[in-house]
Amino acid sequence: VDLLSIDSLSDGEIAEILDRANEYFAGNRGRRSSERLHGKIVFNVFYENSTRTAMSFATAAHRLGASAIALSVERSSVAKGETLEDTARTLNAMRPDALVIRHRENGAPEVVAEIMEAPVLNAGDGTNEHPTQALLDAASIRHRIGRIDGLKVAICGDIRHSRVARSNAKLLPRLGAEVRLAGPPELMPDDVPSLSIDEAIADADVVMMLRVQRERLEAELGDAPGEYLSRYGLTRDRLAMASADAVVMHPGPMNRGVEIDGGIADDPGRSLVTLQVEMGVAVRMACLELVVAGGV
Ligand code: ASP
Repeated sequence: VDLLSIDSLSDGEIAEILDRANEYFAGNRGRRSSERLHGKIVFNVFYENSTRTAMSFATAAHRLGASAIALSVERSSVAKGETLEDTARTLNAMRPDALVIRHRENGAPEVVAEIMEAPVLNAGDGTNEHPTQALLDAASIRHRIGRIDGLKVAICGDIRHSRVARSNAKLLPRLGAEVRLAGPPELMPDDVPSLSIDEAIADADVVMMLRVQRERLEAELGDAPGEYLSRYGLTRDRLAMASADAVVMHPGPMNRGVEIDGGIADDPGRSLVTLQVEMGVAVRMACLELVVAGGV
């Protein structure tokens, strides 16, 4: 089985991943590893930049006894004009046990999954989905608050370009949360009713801020320094409108002083940013185990 989208996971598989991740999270703190994927080979193929996702998939593979091998795409034959399909056929011929792919085109992981015999995991495709990020966000919320059901989750910022928002908007409601999407009008998708940031944050239990993805913008935002933060970013004043013990999340990389005040991001009483990264390893261990070993 592949892990391409939140839609491709059953409710049972989601529950298994979250429970298993929780066990691995506890174990990893004591640096305990498993040999469940001993001798397996995981290919990491990232056509877009990554720090967290690439390193945590590799760490997850190693913690399960597998080896992770990264293709440095900019030094590969992709630079010589090889097509995505030909690259996939080439990698398939080496018989890896799983392939993790990030690509700037929506749907690229599906194209590769059609060709690969091994399971393919989507590590982010264009503006479409980033399913393991949503799973790690859900696991982090559950770890910190103890539940997801009944929570109000505000996801704010560049919704239009955010695969993180898209995957979370699918996953969190399946787990019983109310998701509110808000952002500057020019950064909202056309089919999503616009809510102001203040309306979304009011009484929220979780406030998830998103990076302004300037590399995907067709036109400059033209915002003056500090303007985005005061109009749409997470400031102390805005956070005060959320529920009293609301937690703050950000998938990273953060633009400090743009979508989030740096002090809030660093406030351990509020911010789950580091927890999200640590949980990312545990969730990716559970995901690799599910698709490679066929169960957790
Ligand atoms: N790291 C996340 C992603 O790749 C979020 C971001 O880049 O803003 O989708």
